[in-house]
Amino acid sequence: MSVADNLLQIRSTLPAAVTLVAVSKTKPKELITEAYEAGQKDFGENYVQELCDKHEQLPKDIRWHFIGHLQSNKVKSIAPFVHLIHGVDSFKLLKEINKEAKKNDRIINCLLQLFIANEETKFGLSFEEADAILKSDELKTLENISIKGFMAMATNTDNEEQIRSEFRSVKIFAKKYPHLSVLSYGMSSDFKIAVEEGSTMVRLGSSIFGERNYTK
Ligand SMILES: *Cc1c(COP(=O)(O)O)cnc(C)c1O
Repeated sequence: MSVADNLLQIRSTLPAAVTLVAVSKTKPKELITEAYEAGQKDFGENYVQELCDKHEQLPKDIRWHFIGHLQSNKVKSIAPFVHLIHGVDSFKLLKEINKEAKKNDRIINCLLQLFIANEETKFGLSFEEADAILKSDELKTLENISIKGFMAMATNTDNEEQIRSEFRSVKIFAKKYPHLSVLSYGMSSDFKIAVEEGSTMVRLGSSIFGERNYTK
């Protein structure tokens, strides 16, 4: 099936309120253009340089999501245009994003990344750490960021009940913060469970563009 067919098929299964972010990492701009022409406007990338190059070369009304692990020294490159930064996992990074957003005279939308997986490799905050950031007085001084919600990744496993309970833990945690309504979880392998467990934003790569030849 073509990229356009895949998008159509996936959209038909998603509730209207769920935002579909097409994860285009490692994929050439021709395939992104095909998705764009099929009406897709939200795209996700996880490497800063690749994101900047694609932003440069592709239509300016694309909403670019940064979904990878962001280093403080790279914030500057994406600050002029990024639509939503999903993986914020420290106060230090929030301060850096605020600083660069201010230089660009804009407000940058962020999600706090929560660590829910039973794996050592995934980044993210514990629920306690997220609470501490959200309750801190210093957060109120960061006028050029807007925290919109939470991002999370489940364990890479075939155990659906485990995935479900990990996503559910985010949904339950987020209830404490009703104004933080964006819940970004669900990838190609687990987005159906994610949507059942309250996801409002799914990040799909291989189910739209096909398998990646190499993993970054
Ligand atoms: C690559 C990636 C995705 C998409 O993964 P697929 O399995 O191809 O859908 C989603 N979220 C993050 C953070 C990623 O790095």
